[in-house]
Amino acid sequence: MNRVFSGTKTTVFETMSRLALMHDAVNLGQGFPDDPGPEEVRRKAAEGLLSGWNQYPPMLGLPELRRAVAAHYRRFQGMELDWESEVMVTSGATEALACALMALLEPGDEAILFEPMYDAYLPLVLRAGGVPRFVRLRTPEWRFDPAELRRAFSRRTKVVLFNDPLNPGGCAACRGDVELLGSLVRESGAVAVCDEVWEHTVFEGPAHVPLISLPGLHDRCVKIGSAGKIFSLTGWKVGFVCACPELMRVLSKAHQYLTFATPPNLQSAVAHGLGMGDFYFSGLKDRLRRSRSRLASGLTEAGLKVLPGRATYFLNVDLGPGGDGAEFCERMVKEAGVAAIPVGAFHPEPAPCPIVRFCFDKRQETLDKAIRRISRWRA
Ligand code: PMP
Ligand code: GLN
Repeated sequence: MNRVFSGTKTTVFETMSRLALMHDAVNLGQGFPDDPGPEEVRRKAAEGLLSGWNQYPPMLGLPELRRAVAAHYRRFQGMELDWESEVMVTSGATEALACALMALLEPGDEAILFEPMYDAYLPLVLRAGGVPRFVRLRTPEWRFDPAELRRAFSRRTKVVLFNDPLNPGGCAACRGDVELLGSLVRESGAVAVCDEVWEHTVFEGPAHVPLISLPGLHDRCVKIGSAGKIFSLTGWKVGFVCACPELMRVLSKAHQYLTFATPPNLQSAVAHGLGMGDFYFSGLKDRLRRSRSRLASGLTEAGLKVLPGRATYFLNVDLGPGGDGAEFCERMVKEAGVAAIPVGAFHPEPAPCPIVRFCFDKRQETLDKAIRRISRWRA
């Protein structure tokens, strides 16, 4: 059997959700919303299922969704994309990541990864034959050291995998860091694979800057988005990839043998959603902002040190020097009945890590129940 997967543990999301069920815990671990997602989008999917086309859609995605993705990024990020040659639909951002890494990496090519990182990255890089080079993001702001990043680039760097806004950090990169990374990508022969699934969840400060929109980077980036995050529909697994035609030609070859296509009713519902009025997108942020402040104040009152975060629907607490997030989460789910994610699971080396991630995209009652349980437990 292949060693990458035979040697890989079950993902922390599945493990913690299973423990949450077993202990009847409030699940603030795996990132998924309490909210069922916009009704008009779900209705559109239901109509498509009952009366629409339910056979294979075109391999690159329904034209209506590819047009809608290009129009959406023009509207929100001022980007110009040719929907026919530069946009492809995938089965979630996860498939887009797998496609990009399989299409770009040759065995022995180096891939720069920032740690902590979303847990799918490393196994996918390794399975594609890539050699990881890690760059550390440091709390409280989860920034890289420019000198360390420069040192990570070599003649063999083929890919830089950049997640902004960052899961698990809950932060968005500052313009200076994005520009520095952009200039290093430009100087090297590498392609940046930009995981921007959290692009619509930046709550304060400067807006999200897609790396692909910086000068000279249009042909050097693969931009990845996910309807699961934009519409609180994580189970749908509808993603999109944007890249220049030369890169897209090869990405689409990987996609044609990975999944080939994505359910057509979900695609047309997402196309509809991307065109909804601004009220939807600002409403999403308002809701998340409120939940974030409720969870942050509850955790602080329970005596935990909450790290600043201005994006995603995750908040982190720092248990301080010597703290072990894995042990904390295991005890909290069993003894307090609240599940969270130990951020150590997002690092390549198993070492105690004092950071713990909580998902706050939950109803007020859910958050209040979790806070009550944690406060009682800590008292
Ligand atoms: N990348 C990041 C950074 C994520 O947080 C997630 C999901 N939480 C994904 C990729 C996967 O997205 P999808 O469910 O669309 O595959
Ligand atoms: N992306 C979600 C998170 O970070 C979980 C994804 C999954 O369960 N595979 O929590």
